[in-house]
Amino acid sequence: MLQSKLPLIGTTIFTTMSAMAAEYGAINLSQGYPDFSPPTALLEALSRAMNEGKNQYPPMIGIAELRLQIKNKVREMYSADIDLDQEITITSGATEALFVAIQAAVHQGDEVIVIDPAYDAYDPAIQLAGGTPIHISMDTAFEIDWQKIKDSITTRTSTLILNSPHNPSGSVLKHADLDQLSRIAEQYNLTLISDEVYEHMVFDGIKHLSLLVHPGLRARSFVISSFGKTYHATGWKVGYAIAPPAFTNEFRKIHQFVTFTTHTPSQYAIADYMTHHADHHRQLPDFYQSKRDLFLALMSGSQFEMTPTPGTYFQLADYSAISDMDDQSFAAHLTQNVGVAAIPISVFYESPPDQKIVRFCFAKDDDTLRLAAEKLVTFSLAPGL
Ligand code: PMP
Ligand code: GLN
Repeated sequence: MLQSKLPLIGTTIFTTMSAMAAEYGAINLSQGYPDFSPPTALLEALSRAMNEGKNQYPPMIGIAELRLQIKNKVREMYSADIDLDQEITITSGATEALFVAIQAAVHQGDEVIVIDPAYDAYDPAIQLAGGTPIHISMDTAFEIDWQKIKDSITTRTSTLILNSPHNPSGSVLKHADLDQLSRIAEQYNLTLISDEVYEHMVFDGIKHLSLLVHPGLRARSFVISSFGKTYHATGWKVGYAIAPPAFTNEFRKIHQFVTFTTHTPSQYAIADYMTHHADHHRQLPDFYQSKRDLFLALMSGSQFEMTPTPGTYFQLADYSAISDMDDQSFAAHLTQNVGVAAIPISVFYESPPDQKIVRFCFAKDDDTLRLAAEKLVTFSLAPGL
């Protein structure tokens, strides 16, 4: 028998709920992906890249054209000057970048602070690196309690993982958070891994605060993002990590033996598209804000209580006025009997608090949102549970 290295890990909640949605023919607002296509010009650029022969191994660190586009975007958005050759690595999705950054940063016996609710990819990577995740919960408004973070630091703490805009809550880091973070990180010499895959989904005029905006933080961080979110192409699995040269050097030693390189034609297609359509990412906040607002308006007559969502394409909904069920049973009930799949958020916690909240993804066509909301509103007014 093979002894499991991850005895407590099962199939992810996203796979589980999407499979349940398919089995019951439910509208899938569970797993986070758009139900609409990437821009036509991007699809055309992909075919062009393949037809022009861009089908063999690209450079291990990613093609220069794409790294240049990232450099330009980072300068425009975060006023940071990133070295094209020494600080950017293209990866097979943010998932690979997170895994590799964690392997590079975390040593046997290290403690790594993970803020709950937390995306599911962090813990297994920490455990495989021989580290111990230390889970610290956000407060009930999904804000970080920095005193709690500070109190959890020991001589073994090496790394802190951040995620803003935050999946699943939609909350975003504020200037005051960055101030506290930089004080703590400096005092305890922490390495930071910043998951910023929703960097272009920030609403109501708020600006995303990347760790790249802060020179002190940037000097100790891996900043990770994903083209899947930005270009409505989650299946392409192209992401990247930005980190100082010494960090990037260690990162690449591992990256070259995890995937070595990332799908060549996708890299050319994204670089080409970014060159000619820089407006795409600038318009993304408005694009997704109108979907969020449509979904909120459609749900306003329901018994779900919607929490504020300044970022991401997720909306949390408190169902305590509707049912006493635990959130996993409730999400299964919605999927099987109401026809709308959702994600229970207790699975994002080591010790789930006593709350009744599910997550809906609003990266969907307006008609999908209308249909889903109609079912949810009707059910919430007469749940029959
Ligand atoms: N981090 C977070 C917070 C995510 O929500 C996701 C995916 N949805 C990822 C990382 C992984 O991104 P990718 O699909 O590019 O691997
Ligand atoms: N990140 C996506 C979500 O939160 C799902 C990605 C996955 O299925 N692993 O829904």
